[in-house]
Amino acid sequence: MRTGPIEMLDLLQEAATVFSIPRDTQLDKMAETYAKILGWFPLDILKKALQEYLTTETRRFPRPGDLYPLAKRIQSTPKSSTLKDETMTWYQDGMWGPCPVCDSVLEDPGPEGKKRVVVHHDAQRHREVDVPFSGPRSN
Ligand SMILES: [Zn+2]
Repeated sequence: MRTGPIEMLDLLQEAATVFSIPRDTQLDKMAETYAKILGWFPLDILKKALQEYLTTETRRFPRPGDLYPLAKRIQSTPKSSTLKDETMTWYQDGMWGPCPVCDSVLEDPGPEGKKRVVVHHDAQRHREVDVPFSGPRSN
């Protein structure tokens, strides 16, 4: 089901509670544009994409291009997938975003960029849900 400008406006208003926007911003006009670009994603996917966006360091109001890749990735993850499958997909996708199990993220390789980029997993959390991980651990 497509997401229309009305639902999109709700989403933008939610984002506007977090990010400051100019007082004269016409959210309803923006919602029409966002709906043209993102409207083919179902609303629940877009809501998840916004949630994910809000957990990043970004401090500006999300543009359609910010939400698009998040929504696409969330949509491509089958609903029936287990945590194990999600973790596999996460590895295959290049460990983009937090680990589905323990929320650990890729560490910055540093200015020299030579060190291997790694995720330090929470081994205990992985044991609890019985999903294996590869690489170093944080505990
Ligand atoms: Zn992990």
